[in-house]
Amino acid sequence: MKLGEKLYEGKAKILYATDVPDQLLTFFKDDATAFNAQKKGSIRGKGEINNAISAHLFKLMASKGVPTHFISLPSPTQMLVKAVTIIPLEVVVRNIAAGSLCKQTGLALGTNIQPPLVEFYLKDDALGDPLLTPDRLRLLNLATPEEVETLTRLALTINDVLRDFFNQCEITLVDFKLEFGRDRTGQILLADEISPDTCRLWKQGEPDPQKRVLDKDRFRQDLGDVEGGYRQVLDRVLGQAV
Ligand code: ADP
Ligand code: MG
Repeated sequence: MKLGEKLYEGKAKILYATDVPDQLLTFFKDDATAFNAQKKGSIRGKGEINNAISAHLFKLMASKGVPTHFISLPSPTQMLVKAVTIIPLEVVVRNIAAGSLCKQTGLALGTNIQPPLVEFYLKDDALGDPLLTPDRLRLLNLATPEEVETLTRLALTINDVLRDFFNQCEITLVDFKLEFGRDRTGQILLADEISPDTCRLWKQGEPDPQKRVLDKDRFRQDLGDVEGGYRQVLDRVLGQAV
C-alpha cells in the first residue's frame, strides 16, 4: 500500500489517498481544538493514543455486527479505512447530561438520561455545528428518512456495546459523537474515530468531578494532564479483550 495525495486536513486527522481504490489512510495528529477551533493546542501522544483506542473500539463494533470503515493499523499513527462519503451529520448519544445539553437546557451536570438521547447536529464548522430539529433534519435531506432510522438504530446499538465495554474498564460513558458514511454500494458504515476526543468518559469511583474526567474536557476546561487522562483510557481499553 502506497501513500497517495493528501485529500483533506481536518482538525484532528489528515486523509490520504492510497494506491488501492476505495481505501484511504488517516493520519492521527496530536493537534487539539475545542469550541469550534477557537481554542487550539497540542496533546503529546494523542495521535497514537486515539488511533489505538479507535482501532480497538472499531474491532469491538465489528464483532457486534456494526459495520465500520476500519481495515488495519499500518503504523501507530495511521489507520487504513474504507473510503466513504461522509454524511455531514454528527450523531450524538447522551447517557448523562454534560456539555452543551446542560448549557442549553439548564439540566444539572451528571443528570441520568434514560432512555439515552440521540441528537443530530449539522457537521458544518462555519455554522457552528447547530443542533437540528427533526423537521430541519428532514428539510436538509442529508440522509433519507430510512437512513435516519438506520443511523438512530446504529447509534443506540453502539451506545449499548460501548457502555458495557467501558463499564468493564470501570469508566462511565457519559456521551459521544459519531460520524457515518456511505460506501460505493450505499451501505452505511461507522466512520471517523471513537476516542477521548469524541467521547466524555468519567473514571468510576473517583468522587472529585475534575479528577474523574479522562477526555477532551480536560483540554476544554484546562484541567491539566490531558495526556494522562487519555493514557488511562488507552490502558484500560487495551486491557479489555474484544
Ligand atoms: P474535522 O476537522 O472535519 O473534524 P478530522 O480531522 O476529525 O476532521 O477528520 C478528517 C475528516 O475525515 C473528517 O471530515 C471526517 O468526516 C473524514 N472521514 C473520516 N472517516 C472517513 C472515511 N472513511 N472516508 C472519508 N472521509 C472520512
Ligand atoms: Mg473530527
